[in-house]
Amino acid sequence: MAQGRSTSAPRPGLPGGLPDISELMGARELASVRALGVRDLADLLRVAPNRYVVPGDLSFLSSMAVGDEVSSIATVTGVRDHRMRNRPGSILLVTITDGTAELTLTFFLAREHLVQWHRSRLRVDARILVSGTVGLHDGARQIVHPEYTVLDDATSVDEALRPVPVYPLRGGTKKPKQAAMRTAFQEALAYAPSLPETVPAEVLRRRGVLPLPEALQALHAPRSLEHAAAGRAHLAFEEAFVLQTVFAQRRAADELTPAPALAADGPLQTALRERLPFTLTAGQEEASAQIAERVSRDMPTNVLLQGDVGSGKTVIALLAMLRAVDSGRQAALLAPTEVLAEQHHRTVMDLLGGLGRGGRIDAEDGATKVRLLRGSQRTQDRRQTLLDITSGEAGIVIGTHALLTESVEFAALGLVVIDEQHRFGVDHRRALRRRGADGTSPHVVVMSATPIPRSAALAIAGDLDVLTLRDMPARRAGTTSHVVPGDRPAWEDRMWERSLEEIRAGRQVFVVCPRIADADESEVRLEILPDPEADNGAAPRGVEETAERLRGDPRFAGVRIGTLHGRMSAEEKDRAMTAMSAGELDLLVATTVIEVGVDVPNASVMVILDADRFGVSQLHQLRGRVGRGEHPGIAFLATRAPVGSEIVHHLEAIADTQDGFELARLDLARRGVGDLLGTAQSGLRRTLRHLDVLDDDGAIEAARADAIALVAADPDLDAHRGLADAIDDRLRDADPDVERT
Ligand code: ADP
Ligand code: MG
Repeated sequence: MAQGRSTSAPRPGLPGGLPDISELMGARELASVRALGVRDLADLLRVAPNRYVVPGDLSFLSSMAVGDEVSSIATVTGVRDHRMRNRPGSILLVTITDGTAELTLTFFLAREHLVQWHRSRLRVDARILVSGTVGLHDGARQIVHPEYTVLDDATSVDEALRPVPVYPLRGGTKKPKQAAMRTAFQEALAYAPSLPETVPAEVLRRRGVLPLPEALQALHAPRSLEHAAAGRAHLAFEEAFVLQTVFAQRRAADELTPAPALAADGPLQTALRERLPFTLTAGQEEASAQIAERVSRDMPTNVLLQGDVGSGKTVIALLAMLRAVDSGRQAALLAPTEVLAEQHHRTVMDLLGGLGRGGRIDAEDGATKVRLLRGSQRTQDRRQTLLDITSGEAGIVIGTHALLTESVEFAALGLVVIDEQHRFGVDHRRALRRRGADGTSPHVVVMSATPIPRSAALAIAGDLDVLTLRDMPARRAGTTSHVVPGDRPAWEDRMWERSLEEIRAGRQVFVVCPRIADADESEVRLEILPDPEADNGAAPRGVEETAERLRGDPRFAGVRIGTLHGRMSAEEKDRAMTAMSAGELDLLVATTVIEVGVDVPNASVMVILDADRFGVSQLHQLRGRVGRGEHPGIAFLATRAPVGSEIVHHLEAIADTQDGFELARLDLARRGVGDLLGTAQSGLRRTLRHLDVLDDDGAIEAARADAIALVAADPDLDAHRGLADAIDDRLRDADPDVERT
């Protein structure tokens, strides 16, 4: 539900004549639904019950055993009440029979009016449907505080056996009563037929989704649990449809700006393929072909290329960039950090060899210039780089997203590749519009190493086409993960011993800490709730202290130890990374600046201290830094939580799962989609109200196809005002950086 809406004005487009919700309920109920973000009837009826209470199969009173959960139809034979001896209030005792046996219903009631209320309903000879758990008192069977429904002329047994909605209630000590809330919803339900439809009727019909009034009826007064589920399905489809219409409109708006058709199968691509020390996997070939096909059109492509850590996305990106250069355009590669930009520069230069040394004496024929733009560059260097970009000399430009925000003028930008997309918001992509030559828009490929199920990707970033790399280059040796709990010092010793063995064998070790210095909160990213068991008052470990500790440890004598963290200057960082890449360091203690994309094939051990401080995908990314070359990798997930604690179980689940897709599922199921990519990515309200990105994959795909068709036929939604209003409503309190179309 929309948390914290700032306004209580009703949504646009509600027909007149509908009552204000305050007319349908008391002050407590009103405060409770307002706390859920409800402003009007249309919102109210879209509040889904948390669950339903379903009376069980009917049974005879004679067959009930103590401890059974039962439902029965019976007649009231007697009612009496008396004051409680030891505390204020009364006991109400109601005897019932169904002809097979007798039973007592017992109510402990604090106030006299409650006694009178029950007495008014449970009169002698009243027929009731009663449910509860059978207990024993003084040798006789009883049910304390049963649920019951009086079967009168208006209520049949059939109706009484229907699922009863249980609504979310807010308000702490001022929380309303469930029964009062139910009454309010039943009253509101009478107005369901007057509410405007969001999803066009023919779409609902085609997809087998109930129309809105029927769906609301099913949600709040279901005949069965299946019926209730059909009600919820409407709300999920509606939510998917609203989101997909927003995405479809964005795509349509993007397509208004032309893009250069990068159609050439030119010499640089051919030359790179000949140079590659490996053959592309089938998945890489397929993704390359898909991208090539898309960028050959003259409207801007937005592709999400996702693949697990080490799946080989870089070379696909490079081929696409060379296609731009072969087509007479420039390509930019954006990384989230300078360290990564520098690394990409090194990788690209390695892969291109003489092909990337355009303008230099050692260039190959037809070579292009590759330029790295860094914030810390000296002025003269920088001026030359900018000149190369502006003149079009530089075919490939690598940098951070500063490349977009600064006034860097490209001669003919045709393609932008954004690495590790979750660090970039949708606004970054939008900023690219018209950055190409002659007001064209470059094609965009965003790469993510946090692969998520297609349905989830479409639900949160549906304006991108999703391409997924599923295979891994065979060369990769892989990584085994081990959890090192806090109460096993011998295991920790073994962890360091194992690291030293690898170093002695000529390999390298990463040690990752959650923060820079022990006393420093700044780099802690608490992605999972700290386990109270683990919170022994100790602060998370810092890079500086850990490096000092290892340097002072006699076992590590002679080991070359470096540090890397976000507070070092760009030059220091670069020096540390270069030294690590060149094998001049044996061990690097770092923060998560190394999380994304750092590639040191000779590194074989990843020690993660206070691993519980990192999110699932972060841990997966981190361990993906090792085992990249021919040597198998080992990751240690160290925590101060003890064996058997929830944290250790959680880390073990991660250690046992190699597949990034499976982990993303785990993470999605556990934390929901909001945290995964953040609001900035989707540009939409963080929480999905009814849509489950894993279970509702069918609805998401269907809604996407239908929304694209609808926007193509009616771009401004002139004939679909209900939908347009729902979109306005959805975007109204979304992020301010959301661009409306
Ligand atoms: P990521 O998808 O995580 O960015 P990279 O592009 O960095 O992965 O690739 C990981 C490693 O695998 C790199 O060292 C790269 O050179 C290598 N690689 C890529 N494709 C192949 C392939 N088809 N066969 C063998 N190695 C490959
Ligand atoms: Mg990468």
